Amino acid sequence: MPITKKGDYYYGTEDADIADEVASYSTFNTYIATRFQPATCPCGSTDFLLLTDEVEGVAKRICAECRTEVLMGDSADYIEGAELDNHICVCDEERFGITSGVALYADSNDVRWLYIGCRCRRCDLVGVFAHWKCEGGDVDAFVAKL
Ligand SMILES: [Zn+2]
Ligand SMILES: [Zn+2]
Repeated sequence: MPITKKGDYYYGTEDADIADEVASYSTFNTYIATRFQPATCPCGSTDFLLLTDEVEGVAKRICAECRTEVLMGDSADYIEGAELDNHICVCDEERFGITSGVALYADSNDVRWLYIGCRCRRCDLVGVFAHWKCEGGDVDAFVAKL
């Protein structure tokens, strides 16, 4: 289903819409995401709380069902000194589906930029909630931790 705009926000109908939103957002940001990774907890849940520090480049997702925490990508390298804020939707919901997008350096498998896209579990808002320049190294190892 196409993403619809209402006021200042965009809304989807399924988690696949997150990657579409990340792709268009990344195009405006110059560094175009070419790899996308939906987040799924080992318990099977796709509902997460998301905490980030965009200055330090740290993201943590917490499963809304079993509370398993994952430091996303290379966040574990920068967690010391990070001040994490949890994301809350404009509708006050804190649970999101998450799909991350990664931009690579030209002719390389090395991560250049990380985008974290979300879809609200209450109102279906989709958006890039955080992004930063990220020297994350090899993309295959990196996306395995998203
Ligand atoms: Zn879980
Ligand atoms: Zn919402």
